Amino acid sequence: MNARPRPPAGALSGAGGPGDGEHLCPPAGGPSGAGGPGGSGDGDHLSILYRGPLASCDYDCPYCPFAKRRDSPERLRADRAALERFTGWVAGRDHPVSVLFTPWGEGLVRSWYRRAMTGLSHLPHVRRVAIQTNLSSRTDWLAGADLGTLALWATYHPGQVDYGRFLGRCRDLAGRGVRFSVGVVGLPEHLEQARRLRADLPEGVYLWVNAAEGHLYTDAEADDWTAIDPLFRHSRFPHRSAGQACRTGDSVVSVDGDGTVRRCHFVPAVLGNLYDGTFRRRVRPCPAALCDCHIGYVHLEPTGLYDVFGGGVLERIPHGW
Ligand code: SF4
Ligand code: SF4
Repeated sequence: MNARPRPPAGALSGAGGPGDGEHLCPPAGGPSGAGGPGGSGDGDHLSILYRGPLASCDYDCPYCPFAKRRDSPERLRADRAALERFTGWVAGRDHPVSVLFTPWGEGLVRSWYRRAMTGLSHLPHVRRVAIQTNLSSRTDWLAGADLGTLALWATYHPGQVDYGRFLGRCRDLAGRGVRFSVGVVGLPEHLEQARRLRADLPEGVYLWVNAAEGHLYTDAEADDWTAIDPLFRHSRFPHRSAGQACRTGDSVVSVDGDGTVRRCHFVPAVLGNLYDGTFRRRVRPCPAALCDCHIGYVHLEPTGLYDVFGGGVLERIPHGW
């Protein structure tokens, strides 16, 4: 998952999932300008945030409902079948598609997520395929992927993984030429580790910071985090989104394992189903009071974040970083 310990509205039932762990709160992209998946003037390009039944993780983060949770063999089989159905649907499209996998738990420890990422990366009409991950799994599978299309949204969880091991994984990715961002939750106890990580990561790797759920930052604290992530101000406060223009429901959608389409992970209303042809894109203003997760508000037009993340909206890499 991505990294914000906050279950969104309807997470447990309405939005079709058991809650929202790290990957709690964690977005597609063409090569320039606002051209990321869903960039303006992008015609029939569709960005999809996919989240299947998988809800287990190998980590034990204290701020996450999926910590050390196990899925039954039946649930794992259902997750695999749902993912294969989804990738088959994407493969059959005649328009550009970008995908961000936002599993409740950790996906890359499962072979079917690695296969899906690799397979989708080679499809000519797939512009980006990315996943939120804790980077706990091996990386050799990446040798089989098209690294011009694949990207990773990695989250560092201090206390769950040895610092040197995580940094080594990041350096391995950089050495392989993998496009990735790294992030941390902005808890006070993470500050020194985040500073250290920023100093040790290659400069070309963007380190983002998610404001911790329910945490109010003094200006001095916000300055500390901004020194690590110059874009921290976008995460510090929830965005007032009610009635505002948001690309979700039109060029960006959320899809679950059954193919149920919602505009985003945070608004439970169902817009149709991907597989039976009942979903139709439609421009609609945001019905929620607030939007406080990057994978949501990055698509909220008044934020202007498509200009900031153009080409890297889904994997959270600023344009030209
Ligand atoms: S790494 Fe696992 S336990 Fe930690 S926040 Fe992500 S899903 Fe939850
Ligand atoms: S701003 Fe967009 S992504 Fe956020 S809650 Fe509203 S509709 Fe969903």
